[in-house]
Amino acid sequence: MKQEDRELFITLLDQLLEDELETPVLIPKAIDNLNSDFALELGEDAATKEEFVQALSQLILETPRTTTGSFFNQLFGGRNSKATLGELLSVLLNSSMYTYKIGGPMIAIEKEIVKRIINLAGYPEGSYGTFATGGSMTNYMALIMARDKFDSNVRNHGVTQKMIMYTSAESHYSVKKNASFAGLGRDNIRFISTNDKGEMDTAELKNQIQSDKAEGLLPFFINATAGTTVLGSVDPLEQISEISHQEGVWMHIDAAFYGSTLFSEKYKQLVKGIENSDSFSMNAHKMLSTPLTCSLIFTKHKTCLYDSFGTDADYLYQGESDDWNPGKISFQCGRRNDALKFWTLWKSIGRQGIARMVEKEFELAEHARNYVNSNSNYKVYNHRDSLTLCFNYKDVAAEEICSKLTEDGLLMVGYGRFKNEVFVRLPFVNSSNDKSEIDNFFKLFEECADSMG
Ligand SMILES: *Cc1c(COP(=O)(O)O)cnc(C)c1O
Repeated sequence: MKQEDRELFITLLDQLLEDELETPVLIPKAIDNLNSDFALELGEDAATKEEFVQALSQLILETPRTTTGSFFNQLFGGRNSKATLGELLSVLLNSSMYTYKIGGPMIAIEKEIVKRIINLAGYPEGSYGTFATGGSMTNYMALIMARDKFDSNVRNHGVTQKMIMYTSAESHYSVKKNASFAGLGRDNIRFISTNDKGEMDTAELKNQIQSDKAEGLLPFFINATAGTTVLGSVDPLEQISEISHQEGVWMHIDAAFYGSTLFSEKYKQLVKGIENSDSFSMNAHKMLSTPLTCSLIFTKHKTCLYDSFGTDADYLYQGESDDWNPGKISFQCGRRNDALKFWTLWKSIGRQGIARMVEKEFELAEHARNYVNSNSNYKVYNHRDSLTLCFNYKDVAAEEICSKLTEDGLLMVGYGRFKNEVFVRLPFVNSSNDKSEIDNFFKLFEECADSMG
């Protein structure tokens, strides 16, 4: 990298870090003004050096801030310093993680992470896993493996039978997209109802599978969720795994959100039963403040990874055994190195340090829950032990307060829906938040809400 760009990088980095401290939430730019506010246009002529630096600096400083202590809008947040360091280095190395020839020791890093998490989950020896570009995609990989295991002809002939899949009404929307991508069809998903805590009704699941079988349909896949996106609920994993065994159906656990609890002795009981699944996915870019994206898929059926994702490509796979060429089990061809940032995080603080991150997030959630429970102006919609807090304040409409908080540059938080209720959804996925920032959240929130009259 050129000296001038290294220097520019450091200058921009310092500007950004300083500005984030002063202004944790930016007042959003009107879309109509983007062209007049920024020098966005690309053309025939090169920008002058000054124009280039000026335009870039302005863009960096005016992009919504997702890493500060005031960002509560999604299930990611924070900027873990060691993970960010790893990410920056992987950009410099620009490895493509399909072969040992290109990835070298980075492939070993990926394998080490996979091996350790398999161990934390209590999966047997011989289980395997890999990284893909996010939870939607790792869930997709699970669906494809289950599909091909159920009917190995699908890979060559396409879907010819009525294959049916099951998921809860509260599961992530990627399940729907994936059903269509996989050629299974969205209409062949059974959305199982949830109880008032947002957990899948297992009696309905079992009945539905049996009645589908009685009609000659072919149940092949259950998606259970550990940490639903809105309420942070966990489906009854142990009961679902019993049903999946009795009925001979693949059980996947979408643990994109709560998978990271595996690191904590105290909270891994939330995903108890994960060891009985056929596959599970988890995102380190959610609870672990690792830069986007860092998502893994694990399965007990290593051969399924090879059967579904392996194809020969002479121009690519030259030497080394399949075990060292993760391109053979991957969704993509070119693969970013998503492993190094997770490794730098883990190496620097250990499993115990990651456990403390997880535990801190639950403490913050508890702190917030105690506050709203002690204040009669709040109505709470979810249960204890959730890493999201879903609530309404007085009779203020959730959509309106969420927009106003952002427009005024105070906080970034979003709303969610469960059954017929709409509410503010406050997630706790940034372990570098402290309790005073949570107190400040409620202070700003209430001032803003009360000003709306
Ligand atoms: C976030 C989330 C996903 C999707 O993960 P992406 O990395 O955003 O694609 C899937 N399932 C659940 C339960 C999630 O919370």
